[in-house]
Amino acid sequence: MIILVVNTGSSSLKYQLIDMKDESVLAKGLCERIGIDGHMNYKTDEGMVFDKDIALPDHGVAMQLVIDALTDKEHGVISDMDEIGAVGHRIVQGGYLFDKSEIITDEVEAGIEELCTLGPLHNPPALVGIRACKKVLPNTPGAVVFDTTFHRTMPDECKYYAIPWEYAEKYHVQRYGAHGTSHRYVAQRCAELMGKNPEDLNIITCHLGNGSSITAVKGGKCYDTSMGLTPLEGLVMGTRCGSIDPTVVSFIYEQTGMPVKEITDMMTKKSGLLAVSEISADCRDICDAADKGNRKAQIAREMLLRSVKRFIGAYAAELGHVDAMVFTAGIGENDIDLREKVCDYLGFMGVTIDKEKNDCRGQEVDITGEGSKVRVFIIPTNEELMIAKDTQALVESM
Ligand code: ADP
Repeated sequence: MIILVVNTGSSSLKYQLIDMKDESVLAKGLCERIGIDGHMNYKTDEGMVFDKDIALPDHGVAMQLVIDALTDKEHGVISDMDEIGAVGHRIVQGGYLFDKSEIITDEVEAGIEELCTLGPLHNPPALVGIRACKKVLPNTPGAVVFDTTFHRTMPDECKYYAIPWEYAEKYHVQRYGAHGTSHRYVAQRCAELMGKNPEDLNIITCHLGNGSSITAVKGGKCYDTSMGLTPLEGLVMGTRCGSIDPTVVSFIYEQTGMPVKEITDMMTKKSGLLAVSEISADCRDICDAADKGNRKAQIAREMLLRSVKRFIGAYAAELGHVDAMVFTAGIGENDIDLREKVCDYLGFMGVTIDKEKNDCRGQEVDITGEGSKVRVFIIPTNEELMIAKDTQALVESM
């Protein structure tokens, strides 16, 4: 089956066409600046076919142009849109309504709509993407894969905040986590690489990118994760502060009169590594500046290392026994120095890595050192493949 995976943002639409026969990517690309001026690229096996400004007044037009590119006589990878067996959509917030991926029905769409309060930035454009797809591919089944469902197995003591129950009961205030599709993919892949059943393993998965989260995976299921009601909780990130004392919000409000929404915005978009380093949200820039002796960049770097170590340490304690650790996403896959420093620190847990094997970027590698009590892997994440796999399974069971 050939599956089109779609990830819609408010002004963007990422797509990937995957042939599930061998899990190969036939084509992929990005439409951006939708509703502004429009830009689109399209890549196949042969590399970039086009990367150009093109009018994209809405997501419907973008979707049609994707289908046109995929079926183009010269550069297309399929001859007809009927060759697309199903469409899989990435949905960020599945909230309290969805515990697994689903075939799109009116009820499912209504559920995603209801959850717009919890995912105000992501769920509305995802719905636009689903509707645009339905128009362009009216006879093709669609499925939705949520970033949150992997975390629905968290036990109550991890899922809820220690505040009065009424906030969870009336307003659904609880920990939903994020990056679930990525954590699920790398945990499954880690078990495959170890030749073991996921049920028999405790794995700590570290998705470290612009947004970062760490998950404790116990027997193939999420036991705890660092993000909470929103992706602001947890580690120090590119522009997000991560976990802080919540009274910081009321204190800043009292001192400055800044509205709560603006304080949240400041903590989401103007904090984290960017705020501390006063240089950049990008780890590479921070490392360069830190190496040259910039004190604020050094503090930003140390804060990131501290938060990664803290969550791994906490989850090791919660799990009681750790079989493996995985590093993934931009920083996890590429930041050799971070992996080395974090793993050296975890020596007290019996973690050692092979420094030569660790000297690589963006590759799937077992970097476990000799005699290490915990296996350590770099596994490039592949959320699109996970979405395609779920979509195929759902469509085949229809
Ligand atoms: P997003 O969360 O937006 O998907 P990514 O997973 O692409 O982000 O991660 C972006 C982060 O990865 C940036 O902080 C960037 O600095 C970091 N990164 C990418 N390449 C390297 C590298 N070679 N060394 C260190 N960090 C890197």
